[in-house]
Amino acid sequence: MKILKFGGTSVGSAHNMRLVANLISAEEPKMVVLSAMSGTTNKLVEIANKLYQQQTKEALDLTENLHKIYREVINELYTTEKKKFAALDFLLSHIDFIKSLATGPFSIREERAILAQGELLSTHLFQFLLEELNQNSVLLPALSFMRIDENEEPDLTFLEEELTALLAKYPQSNLFITQGYICRNAFGEIDNLKRGGSDYSASLIGAAVQASEIQIWTDIDGMHNNDPRVVPDTYPIAELSFDEAAELAYFGAKILHPSSVLPAKQKNIPVKLLNTMQPEAKGTTISAQSSGKSIKAVAAKDGIVAINVKSSRMLLAYGFLRRIFEVFEEYKTPIDMVTTSEVAVSLTIDNTKYLPEIIAELKEFGSVQVDTDQTIICLVGDSIEEVPGTTLKIFKSLKDIPLRMISYGGSKNNISLLIATADKKQALKALNTGVFERIAEHA
Ligand code: ASP
Ligand code: MG
Repeated sequence: MKILKFGGTSVGSAHNMRLVANLISAEEPKMVVLSAMSGTTNKLVEIANKLYQQQTKEALDLTENLHKIYREVINELYTTEKKKFAALDFLLSHIDFIKSLATGPFSIREERAILAQGELLSTHLFQFLLEELNQNSVLLPALSFMRIDENEEPDLTFLEEELTALLAKYPQSNLFITQGYICRNAFGEIDNLKRGGSDYSASLIGAAVQASEIQIWTDIDGMHNNDPRVVPDTYPIAELSFDEAAELAYFGAKILHPSSVLPAKQKNIPVKLLNTMQPEAKGTTISAQSSGKSIKAVAAKDGIVAINVKSSRMLLAYGFLRRIFEVFEEYKTPIDMVTTSEVAVSLTIDNTKYLPEIIAELKEFGSVQVDTDQTIICLVGDSIEEVPGTTLKIFKSLKDIPLRMISYGGSKNNISLLIATADKKQALKALNTGVFERIAEHA
């Protein structure tokens, strides 16, 4: 079985939904995982925010606006009156549900129930479309098999058992549709896998059914060597290893949710990144195979804070780094980059929730300097250190840009540099010509 996940823009209009219906029409067994239509989850977040602020009228207006948008989609999507009515009816019941939450106390439970509406709508509308097109498909409710535990980690055993049992009920069916992103939590309540989590759903489902392939369909032709929003002449990378893809996704390549690589890697299932608007494009294949040595891509992650702790007590001492790291552990704040000298350590974080508390505790060790508005530039590839001249090319390209931190040798897959966010565009452009020029000719 193959897993095909379609993102928000792929199901973002009646026209695109029909493109998707066409793409999945072949006979081979598949499970289709859908996001909410593009823009919907953001609107649902807005509605929930209004309800938190007890701005009931604004929330109801936004809900009515959503109703209108979906009515238009429905009118365009179906050709038969029968399906149109069924879809409008379904829509109305969900709009009424959101409205019903506008009265009464509003908590994170109601918020999560609201956030789930986008995927529930997109999958049902799509299922109605397939029925109208006489494509034989079964809609499987993700809320019956996708579950997270008390630590908000996916419950893999439950997923595998429930999904296998559910699929066994339909031995004649080759086409299944389900929701990405949404799940239940350890208390049985509606919850989600965090924003952008539909990729993660697809990967978890793929691992649970031991799929032959996981396809992530978006509106770009694969993972690019550089950020296409910043650099004009980027190109899709044909092949990446799981480790390279994970680094790129984590360090800013928006096309793939970072958590979604691991389940596929663990079960050795290739992941393909494909373009719904250009299905014939080769896209990117992520697999266990080595994709050749050298730097493949660069990604940038903004919103980074660099913290430097300087202490003469560190000189020749042991246990010093552990004590510093413990401060971050205490505040559940992950560290991304680390560099050390004999008397100082610099590290970066992107979650600033407990920054004041962390700084206060670090001050007990020595002087603390904090730099905000930093960006990690992450160059990703395989066996980077075995390709002579790689670092020379990187530093030559960035000769005019101050480098705050350099991290090299932590893995064979990346070199990370910390720069001021103001220098990001210039850095990405300079790397595109300085590091990717030769590869660019082949692309
Ligand atoms: N609809 C959710 C979001 O916008 C999940 C997803 O699209 O992956 O974050
Ligand atoms: Mg996405």
